[in-house]
Amino acid sequence: MNKHKTILLLSGGMDSLLITALAHQRGDDLYALFYDYGQKTNKKEKDCFDKICDHYKIDNNSRKVLNLDALKSIGGSSLTDSNIDVEVELDKKSIPNSYVPFRNTIFLSLATSYAETINANSIMIGAVLEDSLGYPDCRPEYYATYNNLIRVASTCDALKVETPIIRMTKSQILFKCVELKAPLELSWSCYQSETKPCNECDSCLLRAKAFSEIDMNDPLL
Ligand SMILES: [Zn+2]
Repeated sequence: MNKHKTILLLSGGMDSLLITALAHQRGDDLYALFYDYGQKTNKKEKDCFDKICDHYKIDNNSRKVLNLDALKSIGGSSLTDSNIDVEVELDKKSIPNSYVPFRNTIFLSLATSYAETINANSIMIGAVLEDSLGYPDCRPEYYATYNNLIRVASTCDALKVETPIIRMTKSQILFKCVELKAPLELSWSCYQSETKPCNECDSCLLRAKAFSEIDMNDPLL
């Protein structure tokens, strides 16, 4: 029987590390996509992508780096626009400025295109509802709608987008990473530094909170 083919959206962060570990544990045939959309930490993230792929023995033919300079040209996000500072406030009610407009749909469209090409069964994405702080493309209803689109618009009959960690908290994600012996030291969360985590941005603060909640030291610090 053919193995279940899964395309991972692997940014090198803790969430995408965990989905990689979960798909690996399930015994899937793994493929990995990295998107370079001019994010401020793209070099570091790409380095983590390669190291995580190496760790899970995803060979070079099953990895793709897709260049999305257009997203940087469009701007509108603190992740891609050098004129917008990364916010450091976790409790805001509005969508944070790290939101990249319509990004996940662009990511998923390209992943679906790749899925049709290799006849994949799943696209797995590490979207997390709680930590998304209001990103509309991290909500379960968004993924249900996207799966409807695949059914109508794609040639892959059985393809599905899977969001296995969407309802987990950051500390649950971290705990599961530890349980599955996922290499946390190879992951990167900071939105603005490529050398040492800044410990100021939303993403660093969420990561630090999770490590403190499970009473563990971050191997990056
Ligand atoms: Zn940071």
